[in-house]
Amino acid sequence: MSGGGEMGELIRTINWPATPLGDPETWPTPLKLMTGMMLTSSFPTLICWGEDYIQLYNDSFRPINGATKHPQAMGGRACDTYAEIWDTIGPMFAGVMKGQTFGFPNFMVPLNRYGFTEECYFDFSYSPIIDEQGRIGGVLVICIETTEKVYALKIAEKAQQDLELSRAATAKERDRLKRFFMQAPAGICILDGPDFVFELINPSYQQIMPGRNLLDRPLFEALPELADQLHGILLNVYTTGQAFGANELLIPVAEFEGGPLHDRYFNFIYEPRLDESGKVDGIMVFVFEVTDMVVARHKTDRTEESLRIAVEAAELGSFSMNTATREFETSSRLRDFFGFAPDEQMSYEAALKQVHPDDRQTVADMVEASIVDGTRFDTEFRVIGKRDERLRWVRAVGTVQQDNNKAGSCFTGVVHEITEQKQDELRKNDFIGMVSHELKTPLTSLSALVQVLNAKLKNTGDPFVSGALQKVQTQLRKMAGMINGFLNVSRLESGKIHMEKREFDLRQLLAEIIKETELTVSSHQIRFDPGDAVLVNADRDRISSVISNLLSNAVKYSPKGSVIEVACQVINNAPRVCIKDHGIGIKQVDLEKLFERYYRIDNPNTRHISGFGIGLYLSAEIIQRHNGEIWAESEVGAGSTFYFTLP
Ligand code: ADP
Repeated sequence: MSGGGEMGELIRTINWPATPLGDPETWPTPLKLMTGMMLTSSFPTLICWGEDYIQLYNDSFRPINGATKHPQAMGGRACDTYAEIWDTIGPMFAGVMKGQTFGFPNFMVPLNRYGFTEECYFDFSYSPIIDEQGRIGGVLVICIETTEKVYALKIAEKAQQDLELSRAATAKERDRLKRFFMQAPAGICILDGPDFVFELINPSYQQIMPGRNLLDRPLFEALPELADQLHGILLNVYTTGQAFGANELLIPVAEFEGGPLHDRYFNFIYEPRLDESGKVDGIMVFVFEVTDMVVARHKTDRTEESLRIAVEAAELGSFSMNTATREFETSSRLRDFFGFAPDEQMSYEAALKQVHPDDRQTVADMVEASIVDGTRFDTEFRVIGKRDERLRWVRAVGTVQQDNNKAGSCFTGVVHEITEQKQDELRKNDFIGMVSHELKTPLTSLSALVQVLNAKLKNTGDPFVSGALQKVQTQLRKMAGMINGFLNVSRLESGKIHMEKREFDLRQLLAEIIKETELTVSSHQIRFDPGDAVLVNADRDRISSVISNLLSNAVKYSPKGSVIEVACQVINNAPRVCIKDHGIGIKQVDLEKLFERYYRIDNPNTRHISGFGIGLYLSAEIIQRHNGEIWAESEVGAGSTFYFTLP
């Protein structure tokens, strides 16, 4: 190839700007040839000629240079045009000038083409152009921009990444659901299709029937005993898509296939499962076994029912009062006791109003005491019927049911009528009183006669006669003691006993009684240190009978030859008498009831000892009427100590 020919023509048609390369006519032939090829190529092509890499490029290359580089680049130095990326491409150009070639796909360079820098990607190749002398005269650059492709690729990649992320998230979500499903305390299973095949079962569900083989089997094949009860319900959920729930449903289930059925109770929900088109394709089951709870409740119900029957049969009235609000609930029987109509309201105040005036304050105080410190409320009192004005005796027993939340605690109890019993008692008392009174007169004359007889016959010298009379006297004294006791009880109950108080020396009284006792009792040794006088204001005769009674009990219930210690001390200005024996002792349970009327401890040790259980009752009544206190301490086998105080 020579001077240029056609290529020379082509180059001449271009209106080249003035370049350091001078007039194209003068260009070296290889440059002219290359330029001609460049102009006919549709690939973006750039020629950089000489040491300064003077640039020539075709129309396809213009977009690569953009608005900021074209047209100045034409004929300009490459290092000026591509100053921002020269660090990257300069060394490659230098490499080409030494005979190397370069080419990369999707190569990124940050170009400024429109007044800002953007990341541009190119598939390119750099190769040497050989001049006439066979040396490398310049660099041929063929360069196809792939920026858009790369971005599209990046977007696709990002989409792919997002997809993967969301897949991972879904997997995680599924995992979470699965964990919930597996760990849920409720039994959960999924029944698939119209045959209700167990598709999934969580451990809690299996736990309900550990011995049954369920998975992948139709429900009613795996658990045939449920068919009668549940098939209709499930079918309904499946066909209508409406959920179903039941509470405490009794379902007899066998522990193993074909085994005996056991009654069990369940709370459960059947929830339809829908496919993508919204059609029911299965049922989710949530189930809780509540057998223990229901059985326990049934038991309480039964207990309550029998209690109710018992209350009714015993004709007991019942009440409960909220201790905070004083809201008072009563049974109709109780209202009847108080003379209210069966359907009439009765408040606590209204009830209290019907209590006999003599008993009202005591009852009210006892109720308050019970509410405040939880003591058991147990008392007998009189009620005057509101409408019928009938006098009834009732016994009421109640306790406070301690609630965690004290404001809500409840004072409950029962009341029963004891009018008849009371009347019987009164009649009996009257009778005892009358008989005792009638017996007293002949007994007194009998005593006097025996005394006279004794005096007269003392000197006859017949030892039998005087011995016998002595015994008669002793027995008469015992008898008089008993009759007096009964008389006192009956007087006491009918309120006819009066305390005649005067001042006397308690220690002196003790000494006197001990001396008297020693005259008749030689079996025991009584120890007493009188000391200074202790003055009290009390009924001397009654206090004396209390002391005699305690002393004679000490004798009665301790072995012959044992010591009885009597002491009188003043504690906090109040005299306290104590009588201590070393006898059989008293059990704790009996200690509490000892002072009740007719209470006797029944055991082999006491059976042969005579008595009616009224001595301590009378003593307690007497001490109480002096506003004193009486109590006993004891240890079985070691002895008992009885105390009383006077204010
Ligand atoms: P009683 O006439 O039966 O002795 P009390 O009322 O005096 O009646 O006493 C009631 C019961 O208390 C007696 O039956 C007896 O079992 C018991 N008791 C009284 N004092 C003593 C005592 N010092 N030691 C043991 N038991 C006693």
